[in-house]
Amino acid sequence: MPTDSPSPPPRLTAIRGSAISFSGNPFHLPARACFIHHADALILIEDGRIRAFEPYDPARVPAGVTPVHYENALICAGFVDTHVHYPQVQMVGSFGEQLLAWLERYTFPAERAFADPAHAEMAARVFFREILRAGTTTAAVYCTVHPHSVDAFFAESERFNTRMVAGKLLMDRNAPDDLRDTVERGYEESRALIRRWHGNGRQHYCVTPRYAGSCTEAQLDSAGALLREHDGLFLQTHLSESPDEVAWVRDLFPARSSYLDVYAHAGLVRPRAVFGHGIHVSEEEFCTCHATGAALAHCPTSNLFLGSGLFRLFDALDPRRPVRVGLGSDVGAGTSFSALRTLGEAYKVAALRGDALDALRAFHLATLGGAQALHLDDRIGRIAPGYDADLCVLALDATPFLAFRTARCESIEDLMFVLMTLGDERTVRATWVAGECVYDASRLPDPFRYPGSPEGE
Ligand SMILES: [Zn+2]
Repeated sequence: MPTDSPSPPPRLTAIRGSAISFSGNPFHLPARACFIHHADALILIEDGRIRAFEPYDPARVPAGVTPVHYENALICAGFVDTHVHYPQVQMVGSFGEQLLAWLERYTFPAERAFADPAHAEMAARVFFREILRAGTTTAAVYCTVHPHSVDAFFAESERFNTRMVAGKLLMDRNAPDDLRDTVERGYEESRALIRRWHGNGRQHYCVTPRYAGSCTEAQLDSAGALLREHDGLFLQTHLSESPDEVAWVRDLFPARSSYLDVYAHAGLVRPRAVFGHGIHVSEEEFCTCHATGAALAHCPTSNLFLGSGLFRLFDALDPRRPVRVGLGSDVGAGTSFSALRTLGEAYKVAALRGDALDALRAFHLATLGGAQALHLDDRIGRIAPGYDADLCVLALDATPFLAFRTARCESIEDLMFVLMTLGDERTVRATWVAGECVYDASRLPDPFRYPGSPEGE
């Protein structure tokens, strides 16, 4: 056996620029204990992982490596979107409905188109380009009921080498015939997808019952069985998004003490479970999330767009029993892929509740907070040695007005707040995935590049 053949030399890359990261949650710790800002940082990357994050010193740059220098920019960990529907890319900005009618009028027709695998492949291509353009490097993603919608999604994720969490919808009632599965079919199709994709490179499988209204009790139980039978799976579904939905679920499951209890009864409330929205939940449901390690996805643009309600972010993060909370775009009810735009709306939702969401807490929510919600905070969400080199580079001069406004910021906190108030996709100059620059806004005509394809795709 060729045991002594030399291993290939490590792939080394260096990035230089102003950069921020978190080592803890500023909701619970003073900034000096959890926030790192290097006004001129050196980020050393070795084989896709961060080797060093420290103040720039030319003596620390390895021989033969020229740092990629981002001037007039702010570098942070890639954004984490904890709730998004890739099949709904084509229905963003559809008029006039609230949740239950929205599903009937817009969502089901959009998802029906995924019966055609070519449509799923097209939508996956569009989706990945939009999230990378927005600086998002990991997302928890709902596919459709069709297994090939998951294959199309993960295949595109594999091309970009992104760390993604996704799964096939389970939906065996209260949906059109051609969008329903059965308990058995949903279980078998999920099992086959788990075998194909879970732990394959950076892909993670997520058991995905749409929500209590579209799944029988038997189907929720079968989702629980899948989670028990495989290690490390994720679970995502919707929880207490609108008052009508909460009342309906109470009628569907009269024996359960709360909406969350419907899921708990099936064994779905656990670590790596992410519940979308959780707007109309009780203190007891917050306590259950805290005790079990289950997370909530805060989706402010969606909640405002559908008129669903105002998420109680500061209650959820109460240090006496903090719930894991991530930020979600919830496209297509959400109106933007951009974490910056979404944070701007999160600020307004908090303001309507009498709270002030400062920039440190907000950026934590969109990066390390999302990673914690997914229990991936040992791999992503930080710029720190050993972490995946998933990064987002924000341009302070992305628009003339942003250049004008950011030039007048007197502190890093001011600057970050202006970015989340005025920023959007245009603000993202580059997105790095596992140490490769997969999106560079200045690389024209095609700013996207799969790793290992120097001439583009
Ligand atoms: Zn959703």
